[in-house]
Amino acid sequence: MTSKSIMDPVTVLSGVGPKRVDALKELGIETIYNLLTYYPFRYEDLTVKAIDEIEDKEKVVLKGPLISDPVINHFGRGKNRLSFRLNVEHVIVPVTFFNQPYLKQQLAAGEDAIIFGKWDALKMQLSGIKVLSSTLSDDKENREPVYHTSKHIKQATLVKLIRQAWQEYQELIPEIVPETIRSKYYLVSQKESIRMMHFPESDEENEMARTAIIFHEFFIYQLQMQWLRKQLKMNGQGNAVNYDVQKLRTFFSSLPFELTKAQKRVVNEICKDLKLPTQMYRLLQGDVGSGKTVVAAAAIYAAWTAGLQSALMAPTEILATQHMESLSEMFESLPIHVRLLTGSTKVAERREILQQLANGEIDALLGTHALIQEGVDFQKLGLVITDEQHRFGVNQRKVLREKGDHPDVLFMTATPIPRTLAISTFGEMDISVIDELPPGREPVATHWIRPKQFTQMLPFVEKELVNGSQIYVISPLIEESEMMDLQNATDLYRTYSEKFGPKYKVGLLHGKMSAADKDTIMEQFKRNELQILVSTTVIEVGVNVPNATLMVIHDADRFGLAQLHQLRGRVGRGRKESHCILIADPKGETGAQRMEILTETNDGFVLSEKDLEMRGAGEIFGKKQSGLPEFKVADIVEDFQILESARNEAAILLGSDDFFKAEVYNSLRKEIGIDEEARYSFLD
Ligand code: ADP
Ligand code: MG
Repeated sequence: MTSKSIMDPVTVLSGVGPKRVDALKELGIETIYNLLTYYPFRYEDLTVKAIDEIEDKEKVVLKGPLISDPVINHFGRGKNRLSFRLNVEHVIVPVTFFNQPYLKQQLAAGEDAIIFGKWDALKMQLSGIKVLSSTLSDDKENREPVYHTSKHIKQATLVKLIRQAWQEYQELIPEIVPETIRSKYYLVSQKESIRMMHFPESDEENEMARTAIIFHEFFIYQLQMQWLRKQLKMNGQGNAVNYDVQKLRTFFSSLPFELTKAQKRVVNEICKDLKLPTQMYRLLQGDVGSGKTVVAAAAIYAAWTAGLQSALMAPTEILATQHMESLSEMFESLPIHVRLLTGSTKVAERREILQQLANGEIDALLGTHALIQEGVDFQKLGLVITDEQHRFGVNQRKVLREKGDHPDVLFMTATPIPRTLAISTFGEMDISVIDELPPGREPVATHWIRPKQFTQMLPFVEKELVNGSQIYVISPLIEESEMMDLQNATDLYRTYSEKFGPKYKVGLLHGKMSAADKDTIMEQFKRNELQILVSTTVIEVGVNVPNATLMVIHDADRFGLAQLHQLRGRVGRGRKESHCILIADPKGETGAQRMEILTETNDGFVLSEKDLEMRGAGEIFGKKQSGLPEFKVADIVEDFQILESARNEAAILLGSDDFFKAEVYNSLRKEIGIDEEARYSFLD
């Protein structure tokens, strides 16, 4: 018999067949360990409340005896409604459940019931969500974990599986963060933290678990980054790229514009790195539209004049294609040979590319993840550039780097990250910043309106359409439910189709579409075959459709500042004046302030500093696409203090010989990918 391991596939659990395996895989869960570290993203407060404390639309638990037997009414196609009345401290509350007729068996007049539902303050009634068991106590806080789910798997199923995994595997949960560090920061063990996340008995427990997990996540991240830097330094050499200054000047003078001061400074920083015999490891930050592409092009050109090949990798086909278009234009009159390789490159062309790449006929290869596949071999790769670097995993970036012999490395990001954060997050890199936009760029005029002004806005939209412009309509991502995202986006799609179709064509882009379908829609929009594009936030940062001059963002208060700014950067890319309309009814002062600031400034760095100042606890939106590395639980902004501690501890540990020798660190070394070979080469 083989022994049990925390890495066992989820199929060892009862009730997990091929279908469930797929559904779990969709959520990134393949092993027991994955499942146990699949944490709830919030907790439902199931504390029983008094009626006068409840706000409209609030989800609450009410308790009391039924004063009537439940009655079932049928209506529509197979739909039904179960209703009864509840006596909640002498207030008679009508309760309705839709399409859950089987609940009737659990409910009877005269008996106590505990109902979880959504409160309608005006009608003083409850729309039932579920019936809770009577073991729920009145006086204690009751909380129930809520997990991100998908169409293919239910909350209840996940809960059941997690429970089973916990029961059968809790003894096998590994401790990754060393005991000495845990006790120094009063961190609970991983085993305890997992229990406290899924089955917390109090708020305090939950806090303790979160702190331990956040530390864990940062610690591993810091070790990975610092280990990488250490290796780069250790391996030392790299290439001194002796580029031809004269030729580089020719490149600049062939451009239709002069570089901005910031671009010049950044190009100089990069060129200096290239010349040094050590490996460049540099992050290039620049707001959308600040002109990073030409800087990348200059670096590629410089490498070429020194006889070296370059690779530029972007996270999507559209972005890669766009880079291809820009670079082809910039290099038009120059003898440098650039090609594009993506997942949809035809077999014959791919074969040709790989051959020319290996024999040095291709000077620069642009593309997507296709670049890191096996068989993509360069003759002499000297420069590796990654666009929107945070979209790639540490390992993906590593694979690309290893296709060259210690190539120089440049990462690009459109997210302006405040200085303090950048240092602790990307402290292992050198940082260059383009903090200036090319001249003559009109700022995107930003307006904030309330949802009730929607119809008043429509003539404005129409005017833009009549003028031949295209329009983005953004519907927010609801983290909780992909179904709801789709629903919202589909509703908006319908609304805009009704108002402006069929004269103007409307397209829909959402997260559930395949990458290929997304690309198709995006291409249609680029070619102006669609005039209005309704989308959840899946529009890529960096997508360039100069004819799109208006962006309407619905429920704008659901996005973070930085994210709104990035979205807004999709317009204002052509000669026409551009607008962004934020539709929002923000709750609270901060929400209103955020909207105001966006209407006042177009400077990404100002916004990112403000964002940092104003982010309160409980902010759950705006993490995605923020340009910062993402963690399951940790948030670089909110958990900054813990990040600093983790950073220090990682540095201390990596500086000690013990770490590379002692058995106690075996699992930790494995976790951060220090293989035996590297370990010994380091010890030598
Ligand atoms: P991003 O930093 O968002 O990738 P791009 O490199 O796509 O920005 O540049 C945005 C646009 O600005 C492009 O059309 C580019 O040709 C143009 N551009 C870049 N630098 C300058 C400059 N110094 N002067 C004028 N236009 C520029
Ligand atoms: Mg770009």
